[in-house]
Amino acid sequence: EHIDVKEVLEDVCSRMEGKAKKFNISLIRSLGHGWILGDQQNLIHIFINLIDNAIKYNRINGKIFITSYTKDQRVYIEIRDTGIGIAKEEKDKIFEPFYTVNKDRSKEYGGTGLGLSLVQELVRKQQGTIALLDDLETTFLITFPKVEKFTV
Ligand code: ATP
Ligand code: MG
Repeated sequence: EHIDVKEVLEDVCSRMEGKAKKFNISLIRSLGHGWILGDQQNLIHIFINLIDNAIKYNRINGKIFITSYTKDQRVYIEIRDTGIGIAKEEKDKIFEPFYTVNKDRSKEYGGTGLGLSLVQELVRKQQGTIALLDDLETTFLITFPKVEKFTV
């Protein structure tokens, strides 16, 4: 199925807007077209999980930057937040099933630690990559192979 990630991200952002507003967190969108071959439900699942984390581990009045663009042969999606961050030594582990950064933190936020492992599985299923960048702020970068825009 030919999908424009811009459309999916717009849809997911409007779904998550209410939850973000509760903590006065703004979703700042900068969305360019990105045509990929994939499953719409999988993509929704991926983006909801990442934005859910970006809300959950953010601060009151925080921001989430959601960006999409196409470059060379790939489509790029970036989700960055102004939250508590992830320590260097945790970076490799957060994609493991049931991994939560520490017990106190997961008690406070109430996660199972399954979100990111599922996200990684779904991204790979669609020939994608996902990485946590070495940035000051928490930035997840996802890429998918681009396809030519589909017109009927
Ligand atoms: P679940 O998603 O299953 O409800 P969870 O959010 O704890 O639970 P994951 O989404 O897999 O689990 O994330 C794993 C761990 O990585 C989290 O417990 C959290 O400590 C850390 N983490 C994930 N996203 C962020 C983020 N945006 N900022 C800071 N820490 C994060
Ligand atoms: Mg999660």
